[in-house]
Amino acid sequence: MYSFTPDPDQKKLRQEILEAVASLPGVYNGGTSGFDRERWTRLGAVGIPGLAIPEVYGGKGCNALSTTIALEALGYAHPDNGFNFSVAAHLLACVVPLWLYGSEELKTRYLPGLCNGSLIAANAMSEPSSGSDAFSMKTTAQTSDAGYSITGSKTFVSNGPIADVVLLYAATDPTQGFMGGISAFWVDRQFHTYARSEPLEKAGLHHSQLGSLFFEEMHIESKYMVGSEGRGAHLFNRSMEWERTCLGGLHIGNMHRLIDRCVRHLRAGFQQGWSREAHQMATYDLAIIQTQLEAVRLQAYVAAWKIDLGKPAGRESAMAKLAVSDLYQRATLRIANIYNECGVQDLDADQSVLDALSSTLYSGTSEMQKTIIAQSMGL
Ligand SMILES: Cc1cc2nc3c(=O)[nH]c(=O)nc-3n(C[C@H](O)[C@H](O)[C@H](O)COP(=O)(O)OP(=O)(O)OC[C@H]3O[C@@H](n4cnc5c(N)ncnc54)[C@H](O)[C@@H]3O)c2cc1C
Repeated sequence: MYSFTPDPDQKKLRQEILEAVASLPGVYNGGTSGFDRERWTRLGAVGIPGLAIPEVYGGKGCNALSTTIALEALGYAHPDNGFNFSVAAHLLACVVPLWLYGSEELKTRYLPGLCNGSLIAANAMSEPSSGSDAFSMKTTAQTSDAGYSITGSKTFVSNGPIADVVLLYAATDPTQGFMGGISAFWVDRQFHTYARSEPLEKAGLHHSQLGSLFFEEMHIESKYMVGSEGRGAHLFNRSMEWERTCLGGLHIGNMHRLIDRCVRHLRAGFQQGWSREAHQMATYDLAIIQTQLEAVRLQAYVAAWKIDLGKPAGRESAMAKLAVSDLYQRATLRIANIYNECGVQDLDADQSVLDALSSTLYSGTSEMQKTIIAQSMGL
């Protein structure tokens, strides 16, 4: 039975993250580029990049529910939403599938560094001509002496321009596509040669480095395959269940912080000169946002709980992702506007509006989440 109260370990974990973040040097969430590797290493020292990984591999040993709660604490306390997104993408779309499907050799070799902050991972699925329709990819992996030769390009790869390792999806049998034609490979920049772009400019998530990767007959040995040949689609879908569920914790934490700050400002009377009606409008809207935040948090927790039961959670994770990202965009915009209506500019709220923009795109667009939910209803 799922308990709606965080247990003592979860409370301790949350506290540990709040304290770790408080000890970091000042956080800046603006600007257009830049990546602070030192910050990543420091978060690695408290185990954040390896939250969900068993302790035997150097991780924190959290289940999906505790991982969501931990990321919520990070999203609340660490207002660099781009940086937080990068850490979560590394953990949920790369490290978790390596742990779940990788060979023992790959796991013992890579997981400790991925957990302690010394290695950064990227997940490369999307291509210039396939995003939502990801399994129609053009990147191919053809068998060649004791391994594969990979040719193709990937785009919108979070951490792509800075990653040490890449979980790369390629078609080993393009005629089969989703039905066993896609395989996953663990690419190590030390041993495998590929080109990468400069970070792309974007409106939000500034300190998350997004870029393209280019593979030209890149040779990779069979031992770097993650899972068996043709299992890539299954592996990707499982990793998306984790990402759609747990990454929402970051957004929930971000919204929670903005609500707390806005309430503090309103209570301190910064809206002086407002009419009674304007004040009431703002307080009602914050009440609705708070109500909806508590509802979507439960949706994320339930999806995480289902993952922890070892059951398929495609439907629940799609519902959580759809609901959290929708609220994230609406809540950040309304809170930023409350400040604007008071004649005050709040950089945290304004930047969060921009950071929330892409939340309905990554890990599958909202239309794709609706498709999954509708299919689960028999539609
Ligand atoms: C900040 C950010 C980070 C990202 N990080 C990564 C990453 O680390 N790795 C990675 O591989 N990818 C990543 N992506 C890519 C992301 O997964 C894709 O952008 C997403 O899957 C959508 O693909 P697309 O952009 O090609 O849009 P398209 O698939 O071309 O879709 C365009 C529009 O059409 C709609 N649409 C498409 N097909 C259908 C359909 N069948 N029914 C109804 N509507 C449809 C979509 O919902 C969307 O509104 C990232 C994207 C962003 C914005």
